[in-house]
Amino acid sequence: MGFKRLALIPVLLFCVLLTACGPREHSRQCFAMDTVMTLTVWGDESIPGELQKLLQNMENDLSVTRPDSLVSRLNAGQELTLSREYGELLRRAQVLEEETGGAFCPWLYPVTKLWGFTTGQYRVPGERELETALASTGQDPMHWEGDTLRLEKGAELDLGAIVKGWAGEQCVSRLKACPEAVAALLSLGGNIQTYGEKPDGSPWRIGVQSPFGEGLAGTLELRGTWAVVTSGGYERYFEENGVRYTHILDPATGRPAQSGLASVTVVCADGLRADALSTALLVMGREKAMALWEAWGDFEAVLIEMDGTVTLTSGLENAFSPAG
Ligand code: ADP
Ligand code: MG
Repeated sequence: MGFKRLALIPVLLFCVLLTACGPREHSRQCFAMDTVMTLTVWGDESIPGELQKLLQNMENDLSVTRPDSLVSRLNAGQELTLSREYGELLRRAQVLEEETGGAFCPWLYPVTKLWGFTTGQYRVPGERELETALASTGQDPMHWEGDTLRLEKGAELDLGAIVKGWAGEQCVSRLKACPEAVAALLSLGGNIQTYGEKPDGSPWRIGVQSPFGEGLAGTLELRGTWAVVTSGGYERYFEENGVRYTHILDPATGRPAQSGLASVTVVCADGLRADALSTALLVMGREKAMALWEAWGDFEAVLIEMDGTVTLTSGLENAFSPAG
């Protein structure tokens, strides 16, 4: 073997190592939490599968429609000692309810189940049953003793408005603990969670769905780790006698929110907060939403009104490009 050929060996080895160690893109689609999810990770091939397992465990524990979930057992009146993570999730939900003045309400299930939004058996509830259900959602029903939780009689939790945001956050914790994972783009239904910098150096490009049909209202360009969460009545609704009933309810009335907002997209470093807020701002309407943004200063938002008006908070002015 000549010298030239021998010299090629280390070069070839270096190239093989570079491709093996460099962040490769791995993608996996799965169905969890009642939605199609796409998990794309730059790093080890096994990571999307691990995240899928994590998501499926969360669904098993937190789903309100699975009779054996933690949430269903609490709703049935059982007293449960929760893990540190679930304890934290529920305490944070409690705080967010207070901070949003009840617009996000994690114990709204007696009301949401009347409308059938979690089961798909849609119906318009009668005035009387709504009033009865509202009576049990008016105040915080959580009784804690250390890590042990019991709900007030008749009270029921529904974490549907925050479970995907929290799931995104938990996936980020897992990715951070995994040195081979350099970046990720997790699409969890209407929730997007980004992680790290895209290896090709370009920003994350995230489409903001138009609430008025197919297509996009615009695109957000972001760098780094963010939760981007959209809530809108267009995502789930039913129609009866020509009236459209949407799945985000105003806890003050027990009826679909009619705040003038068609959709709200929240960008926040904290996934749980982003998800609770996207729901709460949709209930509050544009003016209250903007007042909350002024007061909190830890999130940005794209607000789209029923007449198509788009309002951006100032932190997104350079990040958002409207479609067409
Ligand atoms: P999606 O899960 O469709 O992306 P959201 O995050 O806004 O949308 O959550 C909506 C779900 O949360 C509803 O299907 C219902 O189960 C529950 N929900 C509806 N209104 C409220 C509310 N005001 N506060 C808390 N949960 C709500
Ligand atoms: Mg939400």
